[in-house]
Amino acid sequence: MNILVINCGSSSLKYQLIDMTKEEVLAKGLVERIGIEGSILTQKVEGRDKYVIEQKMADHKDAIKLVLEALVDKENGVLKSMDEISAVGHRVVHGGEKYSSSVLINDEVMKYLEECVKLAPLHNPPNIIGIEACKALMPNTPMAVVFDTAFHQTMPESSYLYALPYELYKEHNIRKYGFHGTSHKYVSAKVAEVIGKDLSELKIVTCHLGNGSSLTAIKNGKSIDTSMGFTPLEGVAMGTRSGDLDPAVVTFIMEELGYTVEQTNELLNKKSGVFGISGVSSDFRDIETAAENGNARAQLALEIFRYRVKKYIGSYAAAMGGLDVVVFTAGVGENDPFTREACCKGLEFLGIEIDTAKNNVRGKIAEISKENSRVKVFVIPTDEEMMIAKDTLELVRK
Ligand code: ADP
Repeated sequence: MNILVINCGSSSLKYQLIDMTKEEVLAKGLVERIGIEGSILTQKVEGRDKYVIEQKMADHKDAIKLVLEALVDKENGVLKSMDEISAVGHRVVHGGEKYSSSVLINDEVMKYLEECVKLAPLHNPPNIIGIEACKALMPNTPMAVVFDTAFHQTMPESSYLYALPYELYKEHNIRKYGFHGTSHKYVSAKVAEVIGKDLSELKIVTCHLGNGSSLTAIKNGKSIDTSMGFTPLEGVAMGTRSGDLDPAVVTFIMEELGYTVEQTNELLNKKSGVFGISGVSSDFRDIETAAENGNARAQLALEIFRYRVKKYIGSYAAAMGGLDVVVFTAGVGENDPFTREACCKGLEFLGIEIDTAKNNVRGKIAEISKENSRVKVFVIPTDEEMMIAKDTLELVRK
């Protein structure tokens, strides 16, 4: 049974075709510059050269049409016909409060996705466009949506409510939603499998550290708190996002510096984080290189990032009343031993002890804590696409 996983952005689209009988990726690809001059599709199949199509794509429908053509291409494809795609799983960023798990797409779901646009004005619209385009091209193929927010719907009110007037929650849905849920769910389940324990017995902190970063406290398999909030801006400092700050800073900037709403959003989302502090880059590799070469602001940016991750790990251990496992994942979490070690430094009192030699790994499943560390620390590469495919398969089978 082959599942096509689609992750649609405003001008790009990532896809993977996964054979679920073997949980094997048959093909994966990226379409860039949709609707812009220079549209390009790049498809990769294990053991073959890259297949590149440069062709005008006016919109997402054109892009998805080309994806399907690439998958069934006689020479470069992996399928004989489109009928071999049993179902499609779409990644959608915001599922609001209604969906605490993935769902099959129907008219009611589509209507609700539209309602969620106001909560995720940058992310949900391209997701919806991608679904509509796919529906038009594959009208008889079942489709599911998998939400970034769904896994966090188990958070108790005491975690997700902001201390604002309660009416703002009731009337305007202002609360913490949390993101990266598919990733946190996947790596927590995986680590339980790796250590041979039941998820329901474990207290886990998952650290998804990439361009955007979030941490989640997972107690007995359920998200009970997470660092991103109403939007992906809350939490640790990120590539270009500020993360937590005193909300009065925002009104101060608007009043004193005369920033408009748009400029303020741009400042907090695009110009802050480790980029804003270092002035070098939002990419951790660039910042680390600069730091090694003695750039003090790059060093400071890394220190701030790592300090905040550490504070969240500590606070989530407190929230769960203990800690069994810490997981690092995503670009930085999987590939950056220095950051992993620095985030855990000083947490020995919680039972976290990193083994420097074992920690020298990149991009693969590995235990990186010392043999006798009370808390086990793991690197678990995330696989959101596989998680989306699994959820889709389960829904289709039902
Ligand atoms: P996104 O949030 O866009 O999905 P990723 O999870 O791909 O991001 O993470 C991207 C980040 O991972 C970048 O900042 C990149 O510098 C960082 N990264 C990738 N490889 C390494 C590495 N070897 N050392 C340090 N950082 C790395």
